[in-house]
Order: sequence, then C-alpha cells, then structure tokens
Amino acid sequence: MKAAVYDGPRTVNVKDMPDARIERPTDVLLRITTTNICGSDLHMYEGRTDMEPGRILGHENLGEVIAVGDAVDRVRVGDMVVVPFNISCGFCENCERGLTAFCLTTNPDPRIVGAAYGFADMGPYDGGQAEFLRVPYGDFNCLVLPEDARDTNRQKDYVMLADIFPTGWHATRLAEMVPGDTVVVYGAGPVGLMATYAAMIQGASRVWVVDRHQDRLEVAERLGAIPINYSKTSPIDRVMEDTSGIGADRGCECVGYQATDASGAEHPNITLNNLVRSVRFTGGIGVVGVFVPQDPGSPDPMYREGEVALDYGTLWFKGQRMGTGQCNVKVYNRKLFALIAEGRARPSFVVSHELPLDAAPQGYQHFDSRDSGWMKVVMHPDGKG
Ligand code: NAD
Ligand code: ZN
Repeated sequence: MKAAVYDGPRTVNVKDMPDARIERPTDVLLRITTTNICGSDLHMYEGRTDMEPGRILGHENLGEVIAVGDAVDRVRVGDMVVVPFNISCGFCENCERGLTAFCLTTNPDPRIVGAAYGFADMGPYDGGQAEFLRVPYGDFNCLVLPEDARDTNRQKDYVMLADIFPTGWHATRLAEMVPGDTVVVYGAGPVGLMATYAAMIQGASRVWVVDRHQDRLEVAERLGAIPINYSKTSPIDRVMEDTSGIGADRGCECVGYQATDASGAEHPNITLNNLVRSVRFTGGIGVVGVFVPQDPGSPDPMYREGEVALDYGTLWFKGQRMGTGQCNVKVYNRKLFALIAEGRARPSFVVSHELPLDAAPQGYQHFDSRDSGWMKVVMHPDGKG
C-alpha cells in the first residue's frame, strides 16, 4: 500500500509499505478515505520527538471497513467509520472510567500508558496516512457513521471527530467552563479554533483567541471571538483591560511546548504563564497543547528534561486549577457526531487544503511553515476529493 512515512526530521515520503492487515481477531481493517495532518504530527515532523524513522504517520482517520476479525460483532464490512486517535481496549481500569487516552493495555511499553496510531511513544501502531489501516479492538474504537459519510465532502466534518473537535472540546472541559463564562484561548491553529468553537457552542459569553498568524485570527474572528495578535499586543494586558482587571474565567492552552514569543523564538513556558496571568482568581485552565517528558532539541535547557519555569506561585495564590493531557476522544465523539449530523456543528470550516496522499510531503512542508492560508490539511488516499 502507499503510505506517508516519517523518514527523519522534515522528511516525509510517500512509499510502498506492506499492506495493513487483520492481525488479531478483534481487529478491523479500513480503506482510508480521509486522513488529516495534525499539529501533533509537526512535533514529530520537526524531529522534536523520538519518533522512529520508517514509521507511517497519521492519527486522524476515517474510512470504509473492508475486513473484520473473527471476534468482531458489531462493526460490519461496508460500514463507514471514524476512529479516535487513541487506541484503547475498553476493558482496563482507565478505559472503564472513560480515560481512553490512558488505556492500560494497548501500549506494550510498561512505562507508558495510552496508545495512538503513527505517534511517538504511543505504541508500535502504524498511522492512517495510507491506503489501509489496522484498527485494534474495532468494536470499541470504531464510531459507525451514517450513509452520508460516503460523501467525500461530508467526511471533512466527520473526520474531525477523530481528534481535533473532541480535543478542542476537552480543553474547555478541563478548564471547567460553564455557560456564560469568558474564555481565553491560546493558539488559533486547528485545535485552538476547535476550542473556540466548542466554547461558543457551550455558551461562552466572550472568547479571546491569541495567535500571531493573522489568517488564523481572522477565522477565529469569524467564529465570533476577539482576536489578539500577540506580536502586536500583550494578551495579558488586553484580557485584563477587557475584564476590568479581573481576568478571563477560563483559559485553554492549544499551542504546546513549541510555543514562541513575538519574535518567533521558542519558550515552552510562555503560554502557561500567560494563562496563569490572564485567567482570574479561582479560574480554570485546560492544557491540551502537547508537552513531552524530554525534548533534547529544545533551545531551553530546562525543557530538555521536560521542565518549565512555571509561575506556580501566582497559580497557587490565585487558586487556579489546571487540567492536562491527551483527549479521551471516546468521551465526546458520539455526542459531537450528533451535533454534526443534526447540522448544529460544521467543524470542516478549518479545512484549508484537500490533497491526494501523494502530496503529503508538500502538505507537511506548508503546514509546518504555517504558510498563510495553510490551516488544516486533509488527504484522500482513495484518490477522491
Ligand atoms: P498548530 O501548530 O497548527 O497551532 C498552534 C498555534 O499556536 C499556531 O498557530 C501558533 O502560531 C500558535 N502559537 C505559538 N506560540 C503561541 C503563543 N505564545 N501564544 C499564542 N499562540 C501561539 O497545531 P494544532 O493542530 O492547532 O495543535 C495545537 C497543539 O495541540 C499541538 O501541541 C498539538 O500537538 C496538540 N494536540 C493535542 C491533542 C491532545 O489530545 N491533547 C490533540 C491534538 C493536538
Ligand atoms: Zn491530531
């Protein structure tokens, strides 16, 4: 099969790889019709993780079931399904509690909890930026979609259920947002825009979105948010000014450890400290931007060991709460699917480019450069779209 393979820093090649196949009786095999490039892929693409060269990327996947293992009961050949980026078993103690991003059985490394497709440290699983994908525990992991999911255009909405729509929503839940709250979102990439969208749907009274890319801020503005370009304006000052010095009720971190200052230099602590300073006393902060235990390539000596200079004194003094981690997609995807199916949500608004799989190298390069207008790349390995 053809697949997009990570071949080292800033090198993705589309090559022939062994076909994905049913390996265990609980597996489902998909023919991928829509698969996305994610900001999480960029941490790997830039060589800032311990992703092994030679592995297939892609954890935001939607496709048609073409084979099922003998122990699969519910999912049928011919079904259109979207799968969470998390690979989870459904029967461990964490999965039972809904913590499917922290599945205790699917990562063979005893030191790590949680698994995902084509992802550094998240198990040996191949990604779905390929013609075919093996889905472990298919009955648990597949969200079966209605007939309209055969339409490539409709897939652009449903595929966002694999990761970024639930992840943006998760940011607001980790921040414990309630209707009427004000929310400041750091990052206007696809995840930050989904957090903004989630806050809007849940009844935020006001949302600020912080980034330095004007094209992305314009999309946030169209959603009804107040854009703050941090290369021109201090987001802390602006939020404080707009709230008579109180701060936002909630804050969402949708950037991660490669956050930059106005000049473009990396500081892994910048968004965390901006949040502590722009969220009110007793407010909530949800951190879905990725942080990693080691980052040998970091320009910040502390962060090479995963440590950040966090303004913990202020966080503690303000009595703030901070929730963190990968999104447990299964907690949200069925209900967010219902919002899409009923026409209440159209997360495809983030899609800027639809490419064939062969164009993956160009897709990575432009998205990684945050070239103007390159916001969310979806690919169609089936040649449609
Ligand atoms: P992205 O890289 O396209 O977006 C990040 C945005 O943050 C960029 O537009 C960038 O300009 C902006 N930014 C950089 N420094 C900033 C600062 N100081 N203040 C405000 N904005 C700043 O990526 P994305 O796809 O939107 O993903 C965002 C993060 O979410 C990544 O770290 C990704 O790995 C992570 N992620 C986490 C989960 C999860 O389950 N927790 C799921 C998906 C993605
Ligand atoms: Zn993703």
